[in-house]
Amino acid sequence: MNDIANRFASKVFNLSTMRQRLPKDTYREMLRCINEGKRLDLSVANIVANAMKDWAIEQGATHFTHWFQPMTGITAEKHDGFISPSGDGGVIMEFSGKELVRGESDASSFPSGGLRSTFEARGYTAWDPTSFAFIKDTVLYIPTAFCSYGGEALDMKTPLLRSMEAIERQARRVLTLFGHENVTPVTTVGSEQEYFLIDQSVVNAREDLLLCGRTLLGAKPPKGQELDDHYYGVIKPRVQAFMQELNDELWQLGILAKTEHNEAAPAQHELAPIFTTANISVDHNQLTMELMQKVAHRHGMVCLLHEKPFEGVNGSGKHNNWSIATSTGVNLLDPGTTPFENAQFLLFLCAVIQAVDDYQDLLRISVATAGNDHRLGGNEAPPAIISMFLGDELTEVLEAIEHEAAYGGRDKEQMKIGVHVLPRFPKDSTDRNRTSPFAFTGNKFEFRSPGSSQSIAKPNIVLNTAVAESLRQFADALEGAEDFQQTLHDLIRDTIVAHKRILFNGNGYDASWVTEAERRGLMNLRTTPEALAHLLDAKNVALFERHGVFSAAELRSRYEILLESYVKVIRIEAQTMIDMVRRDVLPAVSTFSAQLCRNAEAKAAVAGVACGYEKSCCREISCMTDQIYAICCTLGEAIHHADAAEDTLERAMRYKDDVVRAMQALRDACDACEAMTPKGVWPYPSYTDILFSVK
Ligand code: ADP
Ligand code: MG
Repeated sequence: MNDIANRFASKVFNLSTMRQRLPKDTYREMLRCINEGKRLDLSVANIVANAMKDWAIEQGATHFTHWFQPMTGITAEKHDGFISPSGDGGVIMEFSGKELVRGESDASSFPSGGLRSTFEARGYTAWDPTSFAFIKDTVLYIPTAFCSYGGEALDMKTPLLRSMEAIERQARRVLTLFGHENVTPVTTVGSEQEYFLIDQSVVNAREDLLLCGRTLLGAKPPKGQELDDHYYGVIKPRVQAFMQELNDELWQLGILAKTEHNEAAPAQHELAPIFTTANISVDHNQLTMELMQKVAHRHGMVCLLHEKPFEGVNGSGKHNNWSIATSTGVNLLDPGTTPFENAQFLLFLCAVIQAVDDYQDLLRISVATAGNDHRLGGNEAPPAIISMFLGDELTEVLEAIEHEAAYGGRDKEQMKIGVHVLPRFPKDSTDRNRTSPFAFTGNKFEFRSPGSSQSIAKPNIVLNTAVAESLRQFADALEGAEDFQQTLHDLIRDTIVAHKRILFNGNGYDASWVTEAERRGLMNLRTTPEALAHLLDAKNVALFERHGVFSAAELRSRYEILLESYVKVIRIEAQTMIDMVRRDVLPAVSTFSAQLCRNAEAKAAVAGVACGYEKSCCREISCMTDQIYAICCTLGEAIHHADAAEDTLERAMRYKDDVVRAMQALRDACDACEAMTPKGVWPYPSYTDILFSVK
């Protein structure tokens, strides 16, 4: 017990380490830098850098790196040694304030979506003091933002920090109206991470898992998840050993790994940390994904973070739990106990309702990837339609406000905001609907659409900015109000009336919801290209520009990168499939059918038997292989045709329509063939081998 407390954050240069290691006034400067965004003087930065270096070297570090998050969605690093020539043939260990604060990076191979050609070729990294430096292996990691020389964001962290500032600015205006001066609002995030653990030997034997992180072929096994015997089941010893080591690694990095359990699909698991501020949460989730893969490897397993590694069982998501709190720890999405607190809660709630309705498309876009397209709307994850679940109690409250009706039935008085106390909303009753993309769960919202492999920066950038916009409008309306109570009441009521179409407590998996959502005018952006087609809509560009989160050029670069990455992912998958089918599947099955003929010939010659199995199996399989071969050619042509499109959106659309369809047809044909082929002949481990191999 004690040991864990000592090991926790032992590799992090956090506030307590800083307090121990920095002179008092330097520490105070650092606090102001972290809490108020005040720039550090170079002389102060030098002192911090030196203390950081001494601490890192004591922990065995030899190098430092500016750690950043390019638009690939993963992290990037380049290590530099602390060594510097001492002048007498030896070395001394050095690390300056300048090196801490800013780094130059050529980084020309990172996707820039045209930004770099428009502006500057080189980029630079800038220290983010709000996320603490840490040690991994023998390297001191310094979290940084990555920008072009013109200041354009080339990464995920810069817009995230900008969006946090935007919501902070607007929430502060609203809080001031409620008499809370000098509080700093901050967004909090806790992300539940789902993943699969597969034996390394099985993965090594499959090109699709090795190259794409998911199976492109694979006949349905006799048993999947239908018995619900894996969900919350006893954790197998090998998995338990993995989880234990992972927790230890995460705890040393100050990551609050808290909950672990088996998930619905065989070989699927989940890890949930305790929430923290959005920025740190995003960094921690990146580290969690990285360490899951590393630790799994040490245990002879592979951690699959793909959204849909296996057909026929659930894929993996990442629930993004989001709220907004004050620096003093008051959760603004907690209803509170007094009428005044309730009024403030209802206003923040309405800000989220309006934001989700107005920017449904952006929320959908923030989770749009080729991998996640397999999940959303597949009756295992929320549909692609964005809607919001509030639970019965809260919905009744909003309805009472909307209709200026009595609530609760007791005193039969009209529900008056700021006068009546709301009932408590127990978590249990607000958490029942698992089919909703965006659910209120007592004192936070849970966005359930993000994919397991994606950075959670994107959904949080959208959420922060969209809610900042609602709060801006609310603050504008309230600041000049003559009668605050009445204006507040009207504002909340008007918002409910205008945006109630986004509220849906029913079953999101039900086919009738699609029709109902259409009737309500909600968007149903089924696939990534269909969603991305809306990224540059005028209202979206205006939103991000107004709040200083993305310039129009930065947003356009994201649009290009996201579409290109969609195309690239599917092209790699399609080509892997063609490779597997042409070079493994077809030759293996052809050899098998030839063997059947030889067997039949020998059996007929020797025993004069009819050989019904051999003959009909050979006929059936030959028919299938011809079909597989033909679809394989069609798939090749579809790739060719799609690549010929000049416009990126058109190319992505062709991939979605033609390539993905041909891949599905090829898979169906191969899977049918696998079911007819002996185990020893089929060139790949089966789904049974893959999903049930870890003990
Ligand atoms: P469930 O499986 O029911 O969705 P979990 O307990 O596994 O719930 O996960 C809930 C997640 O929500 C945790 O990561 C938790 O830290 C996080 N969370 C709780 N309160 C807040 C909050 N105020 N802001 C952000 N995240 C929160
Ligand atoms: Mg959850």
